[in-house]
Amino acid sequence: MPRIDNDIKLDFKDVLLRPKRSTLKSRSEVDLYRSYVFRNSKQNYDGIPVIAANMDTVGTFTMAKELASNGLFTTIHKHYSVDAWKEFAEENPAILKHIAVSAGTGKGDFEKLTQIIEAIPALKFICLDVANGYSEMFVQHVKEVRQHFPSHTIMAGNVVTGEMVEELILAGADIIKVGIGPGSVCTTRKKTGVGYPQLSAVIECADAAHGLGGHIISDGGCTCPGDIVKAFGAGADFVMLGGMLAGHDQCPGDVLEKGGKKVKLFYGMSSATAMNKHSGGVAEYRASEGKTVEVPYRGDINATVLDILGGLRSACTYVGAGKLKELSKRTTFIRVTQQLNNVYGNSA
Ligand code: 5GP
Repeated sequence: MPRIDNDIKLDFKDVLLRPKRSTLKSRSEVDLYRSYVFRNSKQNYDGIPVIAANMDTVGTFTMAKELASNGLFTTIHKHYSVDAWKEFAEENPAILKHIAVSAGTGKGDFEKLTQIIEAIPALKFICLDVANGYSEMFVQHVKEVRQHFPSHTIMAGNVVTGEMVEELILAGADIIKVGIGPGSVCTTRKKTGVGYPQLSAVIECADAAHGLGGHIISDGGCTCPGDIVKAFGAGADFVMLGGMLAGHDQCPGDVLEKGGKKVKLFYGMSSATAMNKHSGGVAEYRASEGKTVEVPYRGDINATVLDILGGLRSACTYVGAGKLKELSKRTTFIRVTQQLNNVYGNSA
């Protein structure tokens, strides 16, 4: 008989943070940098733990340069050639500590990953990304990559439950990517009915990871700076963004004119658009679980980054956190039935 879990699971939209008394005088006092030492790689990290997703519309070298100059991180999408990697690494050695090389479990992925890592010794982060992190084959793959690269920091996912977070950490991953179905161009929940509300997934997975000395990334579902704050408040060590970084100059693709408005294309990595571009069409055995959308053209990424960091700093002052590190300890979520007053529309 199917079981029903009656515990209520929540999304970002279901909560707000309760303000708390604070001695902070100004948001400029807030420190957003975090330092981590990873459980398995024993490597250090120092930066603002906001990550551009490894999607080919946002996880680009151009994006990485701008984000790194602000202290942010980029998981580079997996479609750059080894030569393109070598050239980028030669020209931008200072950025390498703010980027990860991504790989799936497909034929040729491991070989290419090895070539890139061997060519670029200063590149220390690997992002192993599959749509469904629950397969035994993926756990095995994480173990093999750990064996080959004992001192590289491995991000792995995606999963949404504590037991699978633990299994991947014990298999050798350092940072677990959490999120199934929340993404802005993801159609997994519609196509499969599978998923988990993101705020609860982050709370539960962070607890599981931290118990073992591991870390997590909240991946997907952030629609505004306030959602990023909620993900950190819920215990995420990193927050990964796709849609919030799309539509900028640093994203590939032309600016199109549609109905008098400037737009750029943004698409999921398993959308028909991505599969046609990279794999010669949608494979028959799988439904495409991503969509293609037009997002408003938003100019330079730096203005958006400032907006995001401004929101984070301000949130910290509202709850009395002098550092991003203290945010989750100072977080009390309150459940709400309404977030915003949209009487004049819902644009910013
Ligand atoms: P966003 O920040 O846009 O809400 O979510 C970004 C995340 O969506 C990515 O990091 C990735 O985990 C997920 N994602 C990207 N492309 C696809 C796709 O085609 N299908 C699914 N199911 N998820 C995707």
